[in-house]
Amino acid sequence: MTGKPKIGMYWAASCGGCEIALVNINEKIIDLDANFDFMFCPCLLDTKKRDIKELPDESIFITFFNGGIRTEENEEMAHLLRKKSKILIAFGSCAYEGCIPGLANLSSRDELFKTVYLDNPSIDNPLGILPVPESDVPEGSLEIPRFYDTLRTLSQVVDVDYFIPGCPPEPKQIWNVIELVISGAALPPKKSIIGAGASSVCEECDRKKSEKKIERFYRNYEIIPEKEKCLLEQGLICMGIATRDGCGALCPKVNMPCTGCYGPPEGVLDQGAKMVAALGSIIDIDGIKGLEDANIIEKIDRTIESIPDPSGLFYKYSLADSILKRRTLP
Ligand code: SF4
Repeated sequence: MTGKPKIGMYWAASCGGCEIALVNINEKIIDLDANFDFMFCPCLLDTKKRDIKELPDESIFITFFNGGIRTEENEEMAHLLRKKSKILIAFGSCAYEGCIPGLANLSSRDELFKTVYLDNPSIDNPLGILPVPESDVPEGSLEIPRFYDTLRTLSQVVDVDYFIPGCPPEPKQIWNVIELVISGAALPPKKSIIGAGASSVCEECDRKKSEKKIERFYRNYEIIPEKEKCLLEQGLICMGIATRDGCGALCPKVNMPCTGCYGPPEGVLDQGAKMVAALGSIIDIDGIKGLEDANIIEKIDRTIESIPDPSGLFYKYSLADSILKRRTLP
């Protein structure tokens, strides 16, 4: 025991990029270690669940919880870490709003299992075996955590103090949060989004913006965009308009559209709906003047059809936390 406040990081339904992002604070990790006892992080340390259970309540000063709640085990750990942590932070897009694992809410558990374990061209499963929570084997009974139909965000399961957005969060933003805690300064009000801005990526993007009028949309590989002009004005679906700032507009800087990983800006409830509304107002309607109704509909449909995979595009990160949350189950 060092006497330093304890800090932990847990990995639920996510890819592990959040752990990499923490390590990417580089030499600041030494300052982190100087100020905290980093005592729980399953991908780095061998601390066991029973060690956490034995701790007094609220004895971990901060827990960064990354990942959505996909399984019974994720849910159990969310409750355990809530109880044992003074400050519980939903760290990264998966914990905050579901992120890519949350896109699976467009399918049911049975559909997911069928795709992964039966129809997957790289799997050899002639007996069609699917995961089940309990299996009897000669050595006894084996248990694995139940897999839920719906992925939930951390705050849909337990009370969360703060949210750090990003897929993954930018290291400088992570450090800003840690530094703020170390400084002893007053923390923002509970439930705040921290380690990010409040406006949109467009605000921190240097590209030239003018009137937007779009006749058709393009996938990234279909055009080489001009380097200085707004990508959306060139027909690439850049989510910057519906995405919280704080990353430094990293993707538009390298000629790639923002995909929306920082979630909706302050005051926006549903990132996908915001983007759909924005696109509705920039589709070029000059060409429809004088056309018959049927031709107008056909022209607008053609523009909309040039948007590939709308749900995967507009809700890539936020479906689980959107107004819809998931596709209705039969
Ligand atoms: Fe920049 Fe994209 Fe916003 Fe255009 S839409 S200003 S490219 S962030």
